[in-house]
Amino acid sequence: MKDTYPVVHIPESVLREQTQQITNPLDRSIQELIPVMFTTMHKAHGVGLAAPQIGINKAIAVIEIKQKRYVLINPVLSSISDEKIIFDEGCLSIPGKEFSIVRSNHVTVRHLDENGKKCKIKTDGLLAIALQHEIDHLNGIVIADRYEQQEQSRELFE
Ligand SMILES: [Zn+2]
Repeated sequence: MKDTYPVVHIPESVLREQTQQITNPLDRSIQELIPVMFTTMHKAHGVGLAAPQIGINKAIAVIEIKQKRYVLINPVLSSISDEKIIFDEGCLSIPGKEFSIVRSNHVTVRHLDENGKKCKIKTDGLLAIALQHEIDHLNGIVIADRYEQQEQSRELFE
């Protein structure tokens, strides 16, 4: 396996696909993928990277915020707040663009870590935004799609 993988950009179809759940996080292919994802993310100066962004249709993403690393295998949003936060988000798969995205300010995420251990993250702010952004990727949603949905629902209420 190479040290880094090229980041794929829209409209690459892998970015719009629902990812496959990972049955065994300890599988060699997954264990080898994790450092590659971090290296690829660092090289691209990102704070998060989901497997579809390197062309791999699997439910795994990594995040690094404030020097803390998160490996998210099969992550799900188990609760989201009604309180919203708006942030100008960028995405390594949509170079040079930012979209103002409305998301929940508080979230709880359940996932497996790199050891296959069940974990729960309860957080807010930037990490909550990053978690929702990466989980969107694993569900085949990119920020351009989110933005379009937001604009459409806004028009409906105007
Ligand atoms: Zn992204």
